[in-house]
Amino acid sequence: MNRQTAILVLGDQLSWQNPALNQVDAEHAVVILAEVGEEATYVRHNRHKIALLFSAMRHFAARLREQGYQVEYITIEQSVPSLLAACEGVVAQWRCERLIVCEPGEYRLRECMQNWPEQLGVPVECLADTRFLASQQDFSDWADGRKQLRMEYFYRDMRKRYRLLMEGDQPEGGKWNYDADNRSGWRGQRDIPPRPEPVVDEMTRDVVETVYRCFPDHPGDLSAFRWAVTHEAAQAELDWFCEHALPAFGTYQDALAEESPWLFHGLISMYLNCGLLDPLPVCEQVEAAYRRGHCSLSAAEGFIRQVLGWREYVRGLYWHHMPDYSKLNALSAMTPLPEWFWTGDTEMRCLSQALKQSLDLGYAHHIQRLMVIGNFALIAGLDVPAVCDWYLGVYVDAYEWVELPNTLGMALFADGGIMASKPYAASGKYIQKQGDHCKACRYDPKKVTGEGACPYNSLYWHFIDRHKDLLSNNPRMGLILGGWRKRSDDDREVVLNWADRTLEQIEAL
Ligand SMILES: Cc1cc2nc3c(=O)[nH]c(=O)nc-3n(C[C@H](O)[C@H](O)[C@H](O)COP(=O)(O)OP(=O)(O)OC[C@H]3O[C@@H](n4cnc5c(N)ncnc54)[C@H](O)[C@@H]3O)c2cc1C
Ligand code: SF4
Repeated sequence: MNRQTAILVLGDQLSWQNPALNQVDAEHAVVILAEVGEEATYVRHNRHKIALLFSAMRHFAARLREQGYQVEYITIEQSVPSLLAACEGVVAQWRCERLIVCEPGEYRLRECMQNWPEQLGVPVECLADTRFLASQQDFSDWADGRKQLRMEYFYRDMRKRYRLLMEGDQPEGGKWNYDADNRSGWRGQRDIPPRPEPVVDEMTRDVVETVYRCFPDHPGDLSAFRWAVTHEAAQAELDWFCEHALPAFGTYQDALAEESPWLFHGLISMYLNCGLLDPLPVCEQVEAAYRRGHCSLSAAEGFIRQVLGWREYVRGLYWHHMPDYSKLNALSAMTPLPEWFWTGDTEMRCLSQALKQSLDLGYAHHIQRLMVIGNFALIAGLDVPAVCDWYLGVYVDAYEWVELPNTLGMALFADGGIMASKPYAASGKYIQKQGDHCKACRYDPKKVTGEGACPYNSLYWHFIDRHKDLLSNNPRMGLILGGWRKRSDDDREVVLNWADRTLEQIEAL
């Protein structure tokens, strides 16, 4: 048996645009797809993520075979210890002369692959990942010589480059950004449309059983598995979103709701990140919905900014600053993660709901990740690497290139402001304004100290006080710091003492 080229397709590269697949004719290649324990367990990945990837890989392998590819598929039950071992077996069996792979999305794996040519005894070609809209070189060119790498300016360049929502060389409607229209809180103003769920077929049912058996200690309630595992099913999810949720997406983008984990969000990051959807057609479909009058400009712009702006920007930032980025801890945050991060058993209603759905479903929307969970971790000074591992573990869409800048940079301000112009720290007042959790909570969002006070309140001031020196260099923090400093010493002491007590009792909150 002899196939000259082995093509390794990683679990997050399940796209026909995968550059490795476009390099060689099907009859000369053998494609390797491998379910490997090491990749599923280097953090405690949610069973939703593992099941989504394994099932999507098996479906993709079937499609590849239909297209005439020879596929070597290694299942988790075969207990192959690593991706390298999987490749070794196939390269030897098929007497391959080279291996090609699209570059992995995580620094960790890319480093490992450096040694593969020697370990495998054949040349290994690692191809640039063309599935993103800005290459690593594009980002470095943009970043070069800039003092600050603000997403807004990157985003404007991307809008011009891809001609999305443009009128000639000007932004559609005259403004680049309609964020100010997109901040409404949730008071049950309208019905949230029920989401149809993708069909769970025989292959997915098998995978779900296997994942329960092989990953008994991982989070994730797979009785609620509701993810698409093929391109067509992911496209159907996007179609449903554009038709039914997009018109309200902008308005309620920052809202928090007791009744729904999804609200009007897209639920597409998991598909974009593993190759089942590609970012440009997604943006074009949303723009087309606006052009035919189906949604407002602020809804379409708000959505396109996330995919064309934030998603590409965080990836650029990740590769621009790795490997040092992962070690940053600018605020020296080291408090151990409370046990309830792994159960959701806290009486803080907003946090309990966000944690439980993250653990059970593998999903929380952006404001839950940033302003409920991330904000708590920031103001309580939780240990940065532990928080990052938690985020990388629990979400169905989590890969280090996107998780790390969002968690370490945006949520925890541990990069000292490379990503965010100020810390996303907020008191309970913000959470109360954005949603309806507080009425169901044992704590009172109006109280800062004393029995029943919302923990976010005193912890917020504790955060401001303990970082006042660093924050005083930030013009955007001037007003808040000024207000805090104007308060009497006694007043400040009462708040800080209560916050200390809150931190001492963190496990019991
Ligand atoms: C602390 C923290 C951790 C996060 N970790 C991840 C992660 O591991 N994986 C991940 O894909 N996203 C992550 N995000 C970004 C964002 O929260 C998710 O992309 C979004 O919630 C996914 O749900 P959705 O598809 O319904 O998004 P929507 O609200 O419908 O947004 C549309 C799309 O925009 C993109 N997007 C929006 N915001 C961001 C962002 N800040 N960075 C990158 N892409 C963005 C996503 O592809 C998303 O699907 C994180 C955000 C925070 C604050
Ligand atoms: S009172 Fe505080 S802890 Fe309770 S839901 Fe509101 S913000 Fe969250």
